[in-house]
Amino acid sequence: MIISGKIIAQKIKDDLKMKVESLVKKPTLAVILVGENPASISYVKGKEKACLEVGFNFILNKMNEDVTETEVIQKIIEFNNNNDIDGILVQLPLPKHINVRKVIDSIVYYKDVDGLNSYNAGRLFIDETKFIPCTPLGIMEIFKDINYDLTGKNVTVIGRSNLVGLPLSRLLTKYDATVTLTHSKTKNLAEITKRSDVVIVAIGDPRFINENYLDNQDVVIDVGINRVDGKICGDVDFEKVKDKVKNITPVPGGVGPLTIASLLKNTYQAFKEKIND
Ligand code: NAP
Repeated sequence: MIISGKIIAQKIKDDLKMKVESLVKKPTLAVILVGENPASISYVKGKEKACLEVGFNFILNKMNEDVTETEVIQKIIEFNNNNDIDGILVQLPLPKHINVRKVIDSIVYYKDVDGLNSYNAGRLFIDETKFIPCTPLGIMEIFKDINYDLTGKNVTVIGRSNLVGLPLSRLLTKYDATVTLTHSKTKNLAEITKRSDVVIVAIGDPRFINENYLDNQDVVIDVGINRVDGKICGDVDFEKVKDKVKNITPVPGGVGPLTIASLLKNTYQAFKEKIND
């Protein structure tokens, strides 16, 4: 079965739209976009479209490529102090002269709807986070939607980034899966993936995972977004593996829409739990 992230995301958005419809004051997401990176511009447009679709307010703050780190942080502090703003997101990547960690950590934890600041990331590991990062949260929606019980399953996560692989491995462990977190230095990766029930790939290498890595897995989730010859493809060679596994997500239309839907969910949560301090 091809798992449609688009359809699952639509269900999440419909649910949020219903919740927001009757509200006088709507949840508000503020996004900071630095520079003119075409991929970033397109991701931000997708987030804006989704916000407006469910009835959230969307504030876009564009800054020039040569903006200073201090100016970005000042804008974040302004948003932190603005009680009308529920969620703050800084679109990554940032230009090299800006310290990403410093910028993300200047977002107050209860508006950090991307779940990436040090406070929320750390608390995820003691199961007390406010916001789960959007892509891992979106991936967990897939298991929920297809009714896949992770208990005791062998899950291989390929890629250990702070954005995807690392928080995801923590979440999967919480759901009682046995997780193998792999990376570029992992030896005999194909042996590990072949004996897994579930394989989740987040490496940023077009069609890297092919038929040599998979053999009748229950679920394969492709997180990768790569642009090849003007087209988007994943980290999995979809055509070569789709008949070798039971369930698989496509790219596009798989994890991407769920990442955005999870951002909306986190923003709604921030709105509901607003802390006025
Ligand atoms: P990242 O920060 O570059 O991390 C890539 C990870 O993959 C690293 O841990 C790296 O290992 C590992 N890796 C690279 N090549 C490998 C290989 N051949 N075998 C095993 N592991 C390998 O990337 P990211 O931010 O996690 O993003 C990964 C991909 O997901 C990208 O294509 C990105 O665009 C996409 N993405 C999609 C969404 C979405 O919503 N669909 C969201 C976020 C990211 P080392 O640690 O050893 O270097």
